[in-house]
Amino acid sequence: MASVFSRIVAGEIPSYKIAEDEFHFAFLDINPVANGHVLVIPKKEIDNIFDIEDQEFQSLWIFAKNIAKGIQKSIPCLKVGISVIGLEVPHAHIHLVPINSIGDINFSKTKLTPSKEELEKVQKLIISNIPGTI
Ligand code: AMP
Repeated sequence: MASVFSRIVAGEIPSYKIAEDEFHFAFLDINPVANGHVLVIPKKEIDNIFDIEDQEFQSLWIFAKNIAKGIQKSIPCLKVGISVIGLEVPHAHIHLVPINSIGDINFSKTKLTPSKEELEKVQKLIISNIPGTI
């Protein structure tokens, strides 16, 4: 069965899309650990990120870098932190999280539950800071 993220890419499940190209897709995490938390995935479904073929692995991170720069411009933060976990969704993804302290990227704490309006607002803001998207 297709992963929830493949279903998002296929448009079967709605998402707060930030950017996409032929091979990659970025969208807001609906239960973020911090405001502006974005997930970056390869469109090709593969569970373990370290099973991705070298060239595709490189291009995934280059795509993520561009998104991270857009997040950094959008959300007041010291850094955009990176996490790769994958314990919940078996489709490789990079978490990009705006952080001011290590506690901002703590996945064991209770996650946020932003409203549709709040998600749409941060979606628009990040998109506006990524040249050439959507
Ligand atoms: P993990 O697999 O442990 O790296 O976590 C998966 C992440 O995907 C979690 O942070 C979830 O909040 C997020 N997530 C799960 N389903 C969706 C969805 N439909 N849209 C956006 N984010 C999701």
